[in-house]
Amino acid sequence: MTAESQAGRGPGPGQPIDGSGTGRARCVLAPNPSLMTLDGTNTWLVAEPGWPAVVVVDPGPDDEAHLRRVRSLAEQAGRRIAAIVLTHGHPDHSGGARTLAGLTGAPVRAVDPAHRLGAGGLPPGAVIDDGGCEIEVIATPGHTYDSVCLYLRADAAVLTGDTVLGRGTSVIAHDGSLADYLGSLDRLRALADSTPLRTLLPGHGPLLGDPAAALDFYITHRAERLAEIRAALAAGDRARSVIVARVYADVDRALWPYAEISVQAQLAYLAERGELPPGTQTG
Ligand SMILES: [Zn+2]
Repeated sequence: MTAESQAGRGPGPGQPIDGSGTGRARCVLAPNPSLMTLDGTNTWLVAEPGWPAVVVVDPGPDDEAHLRRVRSLAEQAGRRIAAIVLTHGHPDHSGGARTLAGLTGAPVRAVDPAHRLGAGGLPPGAVIDDGGCEIEVIATPGHTYDSVCLYLRADAAVLTGDTVLGRGTSVIAHDGSLADYLGSLDRLRALADSTPLRTLLPGHGPLLGDPAAALDFYITHRAERLAEIRAALAAGDRARSVIVARVYADVDRALWPYAEISVQAQLAYLAERGELPPGTQTG
C-alpha cells in the first residue's frame, strides 16, 4: 500500500521503469498498476556483474507470469536466484514470494517470521551477499512495523520499498507508526549526508536520482501534514472523515480511505504527545 498523494515530483513522461536501475540492480515491473501501487510493484534483481547468482528483492504480487519472467530474466543473464528478500509484508511486495521460492528453490528472508521460508530474518546491519555484492539491512519501520531499506553500497543506492516512493508520498499503514516513520526518514537522510548516495530504488514508481532532495521533500511533507492536522483540530474538527476532507482536499478522493489511515496514524502520534483535544475520534 503506497501513495498518499499523486502530487509531488514525477519522472519525465514516458520514462520507462521496467529495466531501469543501477550497475547492480535492475527493475522488473510487475503488472499490477493501481492508484496505490502507481505503475505497479518494482521487483529488483540485484547481483554483481558476472556473478552466477542473484538476489530478488520484493517478488511482487502472486502473479505467475511476472514471477516466471523474473526467473527467466535471471536465467538469461546466466544466474540462479539465490535468495528472495522482502522490504515488508504487504501483499503487493510479498504475495509472490512462496510461488517464486517454489519455482527456484530460493529461501525467503523477511522481518516478519510469517513471511520467511527456509531463511532467517533481516536484523539491522545484516548483510546479504548471495548476489556477490553486499546488501546491508537498514531498519526503517513506519510505513509498516516490518519495513526495511536495503543499502547497496557498491552502487551508492538504497532500495526503499514503500518507505520512499518514486512519485508522490507514502502512507502509514494500520501496523505502522508515524513516530517510527519520521525516525526512519531521518536515518536515511543521515545516510545521504554521510555517504555519496546517488540513487533511491523505490518499491513503486521511477528511481530517484537525488536522494537528499527526495528525503527532504518527504520530511517537509510530513511536517506540513502534521501542521495541517493540528490546524484542523484547532478549528474544531474531531472526526477523522472531517479532518481528511479538510487536509486532503488536494488529493484524489479515491485515495481518501487511505488518507484516513494516515490521519489515524497522525492522531495517534499527537495522542502520544498529549496534543489531542478531548472528543477526537481515535478508534
Ligand atoms: Zn506497503
